[in-house]
Amino acid sequence: QEEHIRKPEWLKIKLNTNESYKGLKKLMRENRLHTVCEEAKCPNIHECWAVRKTATFMILGDICTRACRFCAVKSGLPNELDLQEPVRVAESVQVMGLKHVVITAVARDDLKDAGAGVFADTVRQIRKLSPFTSVEVLPSDMSGSEDNLRILMDAKPDIFNHNIETVRRLTPRVRAKAMYDRTLEVLRRAKEMSPHTPTKSSIMLGLGETKEEILETMDDLRANNVDIMTIGQYLQPTKKHLKIEKYYRPEEFAELKEIALSKGFKHCEAGPLVRSSYHADEQVNAAKAN
Ligand code: SF4
Ligand code: SF4
Repeated sequence: QEEHIRKPEWLKIKLNTNESYKGLKKLMRENRLHTVCEEAKCPNIHECWAVRKTATFMILGDICTRACRFCAVKSGLPNELDLQEPVRVAESVQVMGLKHVVITAVARDDLKDAGAGVFADTVRQIRKLSPFTSVEVLPSDMSGSEDNLRILMDAKPDIFNHNIETVRRLTPRVRAKAMYDRTLEVLRRAKEMSPHTPTKSSIMLGLGETKEEILETMDDLRANNVDIMTIGQYLQPTKKHLKIEKYYRPEEFAELKEIALSKGFKHCEAGPLVRSSYHADEQVNAAKAN
């Protein structure tokens, strides 16, 4: 129960569900596609889909082999691999007229390549139909395998994103199977494989981390050449998930953003409603211009 900490005003927003939004939802169902925007009930959905022309697709099914304690995705035995999914994603990206698309996936620890092949194919199919759309990938650690990472990097995404999610101390409590140092290693290797591709990572705040620990995480990401950082407020998806220990104030996010930029990140988005994919369209250019 987190009744004793009341949800602050800046997090009370109304979902905008106009006609174009309903049409897009229908398109997703017809194509049997999943978006994080819908599944996570993301508060930014109207701004992203209608105004900024960006969306986050979740591929490789909607059942994850892991069960992180902050995440609303179902966990269990995943569906059979759907080899036509990349084409359907690409067609939807085209119909939606997206300028920037984020492709993420459940962790497929059941597959030898952890889904890297379908992931890479999705990037290529999008490029074919929408050559001017920037494509950001947000994979799991893909079992920490260098081969799997290479399969994905060979598809030449515009941004490589892999989330650290929380500070070192809280990682075992918050994330399932994922390890803090392995996350850093994945980010470092992606940069080594493709030095011109901006790398990015996100952290959620409100899980009981201290300010020192947040700054340490920034340093660890910078030590592995991460270019872009996003910092957002953790929101408990259901009562079964981890409790919110603290709501950060907008001023605190603003201060953290300044600190991140002073540590050498080329771009940082920080705020209560910031999600890994928030304002991602701006980050491609910001990171490349530097
Ligand atoms: Fe979707 Fe990300 Fe935008 Fe939320 S911030 S609506 S998850 S693209
Ligand atoms: Fe959610 Fe990703 Fe963890 Fe799976 S690996 S439970 S999708 S955060």
